[in-house]
Amino acid sequence: MKKELTADHKDWSPPPQPGALTTAKAVGVITSTFFFITLSVRMVHSFALGVPIESAIFVFILGYIMADFISGITHWFCDTFFEEDTPFIGKLVIYPFREHHIHPRRIVLSSFIEQDTANFFLMIPPLAACVWIDAPNQGYVESLISCSLLGLCFGLFCTNLFHKWAHLQNPPLLITLLQKSNLILNPQRHALHHRDHRRGFCVTSGWLNPILDSINFFPRLERVIRYILK
Ligand SMILES: [Zn+2]
Ligand SMILES: [Zn+2]
Repeated sequence: MKKELTADHKDWSPPPQPGALTTAKAVGVITSTFFFITLSVRMVHSFALGVPIESAIFVFILGYIMADFISGITHWFCDTFFEEDTPFIGKLVIYPFREHHIHPRRIVLSSFIEQDTANFFLMIPPLAACVWIDAPNQGYVESLISCSLLGLCFGLFCTNLFHKWAHLQNPPLLITLLQKSNLILNPQRHALHHRDHRRGFCVTSGWLNPILDSINFFPRLERVIRYILK
């Protein structure tokens, strides 16, 4: 296990991605960011119409926690089921998670656009739907739904980034402060996963890890799924 933590990454560089793919990813980031900002502006407008800001902050945080949970479920699933040579998903989805256990520091070498933008694509439909459905003068419930979606999107957009930052050896001061305040994934907490791959799956804020680990959530879920599929 120690070998995994100290695996050399100095002579490695990320495989080049086709330019068209990088361009498509950039378009995805711009599109989802546009919807995110549009919805955020509407939220500010809704405060002026009487939606309590405390309620908005509360549901935003709930959305952010949900992003942590989704990051954990996704990570656990890809660490637990299927193999790197499974058709279709093996190379594309499973391999990056397994490879990260062997070479954890390589994650810091890939660029944001190339490595960290899949979630931007995934959130375009719900963001677009929310922008399209909600009238500018949206009501209380619609505002809170929008705000929780913003929290979810913020968390999912930042998940890969926060995970990557947890592997930086000398992060900038601002990132260190965010990590030490546990607003984003704390490197010490994430190191638990690299010592024991059956715990600490959540990689957005990592807030849910102590709770889920204490009740053996993921091993139990795995037992249930394997029993059902038996
Ligand atoms: Zn893992
Ligand atoms: Zn990691």
